[in-house]
Amino acid sequence: MPLKLIPLPYPDDALAPAISADTLQTHHGKHHQAYVTKTNDLAAAVGLGDASLEQIIAAARERGDKPLFNNAAQAWNHGFYWRSLSPNGGRPEGELAAAIERDFGSHDKLAEELQSRGEKHFASGWVWLAQSGGKLSVEETHDGDTLAIGDKQPLLTIDLWEHAYYLDHKNQRPAYLKAVIGGLLNWRFAADNLSRGETWRYPEEVAQPA
Ligand code: FE
Repeated sequence: MPLKLIPLPYPDDALAPAISADTLQTHHGKHHQAYVTKTNDLAAAVGLGDASLEQIIAAARERGDKPLFNNAAQAWNHGFYWRSLSPNGGRPEGELAAAIERDFGSHDKLAEELQSRGEKHFASGWVWLAQSGGKLSVEETHDGDTLAIGDKQPLLTIDLWEHAYYLDHKNQRPAYLKAVIGGLLNWRFAADNLSRGETWRYPEEVAQPA
């Protein structure tokens, strides 16, 4: 079944002014859509038209199929990123809050590390909160690389590509990161990922908004 563009889990103006409706319309409707379309075309051409997105990513990595890997991984990363953001994502609570305190010292220390790793990351990529063996860590992936498969289970991600912030913050990636980390991260999504213990899967069936 072809991969679909999953709808945003909030209205496109819900994250403004940090991330404007204009940015979300382009980022979701054009960039994410293009990754989905290219993944479908490239996957069908190599006999992976019925595979899940995670299977496509794993097969493309194994085969060294860079164009398919990059498009499939970017399709997955964006689906995960939309859920990593929320206009009311709360604060870390319960098991997640305890793990953050244990592994970073405090929520503020984690926020500082996300900010500084995101600021220093060279060129395009992603910064993640992840867990492995129950231990939390901040990770980075470059360009279209992903934590969708592999040993580190992603809990949250932030898109560091210029298309994520350029319309709203021009070249000021630190300002974008500050606004996202300071109030738009979806801690409930991170907590759900941690308690599930298995990596989130890109939905195959897409519920159309009513
Ligand atoms: Fe992006």
